[in-house]
Amino acid sequence: MADEPVSMIDVSLKVAILRLLLKFKNELNQSMLFISHDIATAAMISDRIAVMYLGKIVEIGSTREIPSNPMHPYTKALLSAIPSIRRRRIEEIAIKGEIADPTNPPPGCRFHPRYPFKMDICSEQESVLKEVSKGHYVACL
Ligand code: SF4
Repeated sequence: MADEPVSMIDVSLKVAILRLLLKFKNELNQSMLFISHDIATAAMISDRIAVMYLGKIVEIGSTREIPSNPMHPYTKALLSAIPSIRRRRIEEIAIKGEIADPTNPPPGCRFHPRYPFKMDICSEQESVLKEVSKGHYVACL
């Protein structure tokens, strides 16, 4: 498990550390759980990406699928915040407010207090992961 191993690190050193982690992973034939707040960095080193919000996985899929076809509004918000001159523009999602207290999460979908297009059911029913295409799961009502 690598927990935020390259956060707050200079870009050139970051690339060197990521290469080293990949070398270890391949040489030792191990899996690695790479934890990051930076979805762009996670995409550089991972085969699959799981996006978490308030302690719950809200979307999981291949590294090819998630950045090109994000389906959960929180994943879209994360990706639309990455500056890029080449990448196709991801639909911008303006999330509001602060993240809730994880020890006292809101009822229903944990993301609903921050999502401007929520439906009535979002505050009543918990969203669970459902497969939307092969290996791509999303928790959204
Ligand atoms: S369940 Fe509702 S609030 Fe939650 S992500 Fe989906 S639409 Fe938004």
